[in-house]
Amino acid sequence: MEIKANSGIEARQADSRHVDVLIIGAGPAGLAAALYAARAELKPVVLTGMTMGGQVAITHIVENYPGFSEGLGGPELGELFKTHAERFGAEIVYDSATEVDFSQRPFQVDTYGGSFLAKTIIIATGATPRHLDVPGEVDFTGRGVSYCGTCDGFFFKNKDVVVVGGGDSAMEEGVFLTRFANKVTVIHRRDKLRASSILEKRARENPKIEFIWDTEIDHISGDGTVQEVRLRNLKSGDPTRFKTDGVFIFIGHSPNTDLFRGQLELDEASYVVVNKYMETSIAGVFAAGEVADPHFRQVITSAGMGAAAAIQATRFLEAE
Ligand code: NAP
Repeated sequence: MEIKANSGIEARQADSRHVDVLIIGAGPAGLAAALYAARAELKPVVLTGMTMGGQVAITHIVENYPGFSEGLGGPELGELFKTHAERFGAEIVYDSATEVDFSQRPFQVDTYGGSFLAKTIIIATGATPRHLDVPGEVDFTGRGVSYCGTCDGFFFKNKDVVVVGGGDSAMEEGVFLTRFANKVTVIHRRDKLRASSILEKRARENPKIEFIWDTEIDHISGDGTVQEVRLRNLKSGDPTRFKTDGVFIFIGHSPNTDLFRGQLELDEASYVVVNKYMETSIAGVFAAGEVADPHFRQVITSAGMGAAAAIQATRFLEAE
């Protein structure tokens, strides 16, 4: 038995690629971590997952990243982060983690293309847009239902669309959609927005934007593509039918932590629990960005967490 177990471990060691730092995720947190780990000469490997650049890469324009006073395109900023990390030796691997084993060191991470054994891990898998979970939403996704104005706005030229949500994303994307759409109707479940005052002002002053307050969508229907939503006033309970060509949903995000469930401590909303050093409940595993941050969720805070995680991973390796 002893020999069998050892040969299993040896086979695992031989088949896997050994790295000092494996970064899972290539948004602002992952790429900032890659830059710092690369400059510490740790030759980090970054697994990109499905979206190189993370959420910022599907954001039309970023106006609040310091140093870029005129704003710059989200895809461009994502590309700059990547180029910067690569310049110092980070390796970007276009693959996704499919399974992790943090029960022993080195930590094992399997991907579609192979397997890694890593002395340290930085989790930067970000978050995914939340769904409304109403009938019709799944059926019409890609056929009128969207979670990304930057990606899909163009398809709604001279059409009427609704935007669901009252936060910064809803206001920012709603204003962006007025470039294409005839009319954008924001449907919000309360009578006050959550968005920052600058974005609220911009949306309220846009002549193409209208608001429907205290209302939620409880059904999306159409014939091949979206044609109508059923609204329910949350104060009166009254249902109404509302004609629309598109439904853009911006109601927050959920952290991408399914892969780590049972291996690391997660909070009640499934975010990875980290301390101020970006350390998770397992020594040698760090987390940064929106996967571990339900509060700030900005490009700059995610990048800052990524840098901090890489600095701490460097110190952790040095201490060994
Ligand atoms: P958010 O701030 O969490 O806002 C989500 C909105 O969706 C809220 O208005 C919420 O209503 C509503 N909502 C949640 N669940 C709902 C449901 N089931 N049905 C209907 N409505 C629902 O999310 P976000 O707008 O995506 O922003 C996330 C973070 O990114 C924030 O920290 C934000 O400041 C940041 N962000 C910043 C910028 C920028 O600075 N330019 C741009 C985009 C995002 P309630 O208000 O009633 O809770």
